[in-house]
Amino acid sequence: MKVIRAEKMGFCMGVKRAVQLVERTLGENPGEKLYTIGPIIHNRQVIDDLAKRGVIIADSSDDIPEGSTAVIRAHGIPVSLQRELENKKILLKDGTCPNVIASRKLVEKYSSSGYKIYIAGDENHGEIKCLAGSALNCEVLLSSEQAAAASPPEKSILISQTTLKQEEFDSICAILKTVNPKLIIKNTICRATELRQKAVSDLVIETDAVIVIGGKNSANTQRLYYTARNSGIPSWHIETVNDIPEEIVRYGTVGITAGASTPDYIIDEVESYLLRL
Ligand code: SF4
Repeated sequence: MKVIRAEKMGFCMGVKRAVQLVERTLGENPGEKLYTIGPIIHNRQVIDDLAKRGVIIADSSDDIPEGSTAVIRAHGIPVSLQRELENKKILLKDGTCPNVIASRKLVEKYSSSGYKIYIAGDENHGEIKCLAGSALNCEVLLSSEQAAAASPPEKSILISQTTLKQEEFDSICAILKTVNPKLIIKNTICRATELRQKAVSDLVIETDAVIVIGGKNSANTQRLYYTARNSGIPSWHIETVNDIPEEIVRYGTVGITAGASTPDYIIDEVESYLLRL
């Protein structure tokens, strides 16, 4: 079997930094418990491994004892939560992705100048909670229907969740613009997502089937899978080498790609297995 890797796949810069921060902090404090605010990464295998090494996922400040150390994941956290943690004398290690920090700075800047902040994205996503937490007046829009129901005032700005698809952002943007032509638009979509999407679109052209590797709970992995599947070639979304479907042997050239939270060792295991078929 011939295996072709997508040109861009696996850990993005932000996830890599956050995971390295956890590893470094564990190394500096051997034997001590370390908290992460939400899962550091949407990958069960990595989370299970970190749990064995003393990393505990906290859902709120109540879960973290005073004086502990906690890592902020790439999505960031709302400023109110940061204050709560600081008040509890929790030592924070900040793994917020620089791209999310840049979006948050935009929100702070325009919010302090009286702008209404529109964010195209999923209100339940950690990054959106982080960004919305810095806005005085904010509305999160995920669909065209929600955009159509919005009434952006004269001083309004639209930004995006970093992992949103360009078409989704464009559609929300076009709808809001019809109501307010003066709307300020800042496209804050991260190139990492776009490049992985483009790479999978290229991959389906030169392969007979595609395997997408990554957590079932990883939104960007799911999007890669939908792109592959919608191209019409057989596609599977797997988490580890153990999930490779038996029928894969029917295909001569198989493409592999992976979400931004899939570690290299899992990708390598899948590739090695396929190459032995
Ligand atoms: Fe940062 Fe982009 Fe990765 Fe999100 S997808 S963590 S914005 S590098």
